Amino acid sequence: MQNTLPVTNENGYFEIRLESIGGMGANLCGKMLGELGALYLSLNASSFSSYGSEKRGSPVKAFVRWCREDMPIRVNSPVVSPHILCIFHEGLMGRLPVLDGVKPDTKIILNTPLSPDEAMQKYGFAKGTLYCIDALKIAMESHSRINMVLLGAIAKASEFVPLDCVKSLCRDTIGKKYPDLIASNLEGVQKGHDLLSRAVISAASAQGTPALHKDRFTWGWDNAPQGGINHRFGSTVSNDLSPSREGYIPLFLQEKCINCGLCDSTCPDMVFQFREGNIDGKPAMINGGLDYFHCKGCLRCVAVCPTGALVKALEKDYPDKPWFVPNKDLLPDSIRYEKTGPNGWITSDSYLDEKRVDGGIT
Ligand code: SF4
Ligand code: SF4
Repeated sequence: MQNTLPVTNENGYFEIRLESIGGMGANLCGKMLGELGALYLSLNASSFSSYGSEKRGSPVKAFVRWCREDMPIRVNSPVVSPHILCIFHEGLMGRLPVLDGVKPDTKIILNTPLSPDEAMQKYGFAKGTLYCIDALKIAMESHSRINMVLLGAIAKASEFVPLDCVKSLCRDTIGKKYPDLIASNLEGVQKGHDLLSRAVISAASAQGTPALHKDRFTWGWDNAPQGGINHRFGSTVSNDLSPSREGYIPLFLQEKCINCGLCDSTCPDMVFQFREGNIDGKPAMINGGLDYFHCKGCLRCVAVCPTGALVKALEKDYPDKPWFVPNKDLLPDSIRYEKTGPNGWITSDSYLDEKRVDGGIT
């Protein structure tokens, strides 16, 4: 039986855009939405993703188009003005233009612990309908994946995708490889559907729209490094990897640290701040702590630490964590640390000293 869509654009498509970062499952979610349309909703469907390096933490977009089953899909370009826009990570807000193309009938789903009113106050949405869901919390409680929670939320916001179809899709997709995980992910889908909260965006809520962080850089013809720069978060210029974290941080318990350096060799992002010091009167390199500005939360350091000096912790439990934890007893007085550098972004000595620009260390 051929299905019809309640709303389409002028080309006859219902369009969805997912804005995410590598590691959160937006690519799979986009593929599943494509399958949902074609195999479960009797529609024609296409889906594809767009990402740079396949690196955890780098920006990812996924695009989905649905239309009548008897209609060919001849548009293969990214979705510019989506009917549903799902923002997988709140850290993207204000850092990338994730709200581009939002129109008055766009349904924006934001993964956040904030209520829709709080989110509107914080981010100043201008158009559309805002839906909020704390997908991370639900995923942790139900042991499901964040993308499954957001699938449930997308079904609810759409107002026409039956939850049963999403559950069948989830069962068929996950069950092939991981039958033991079906129950927990179905719970995630159900909670994503049930706990989604909604608010209509008014003109007044557009106040205070945050400027994109890129505006804080003033690269131009006279100061841009040769070869061009990538000033988006996660790049070697800003090296701000904090939005890549999915809710976890490595917590440093300094009293357990034996300064073996395994964490530093393992960390891909130079988070550890080793400094010259001394142990038992002998010169030694001392682990002075972490610069969380560069930490993407991969937790490799936790896995390698032999003494339990690094433990997995929930970021939300440490809102006031220091960006850098100098051990005043062991480190010499000459430690230079600036919480923010001259342009408000650079935070670590390693960055300042090594001039990490243009994909390399000079
Ligand atoms: S979690 Fe650990 S290894 Fe991963 S980026 Fe952060 S400090 Fe480095
Ligand atoms: S791996 Fe653990 S013990 Fe070794 S330096 Fe790092 S934090 Fe300290």
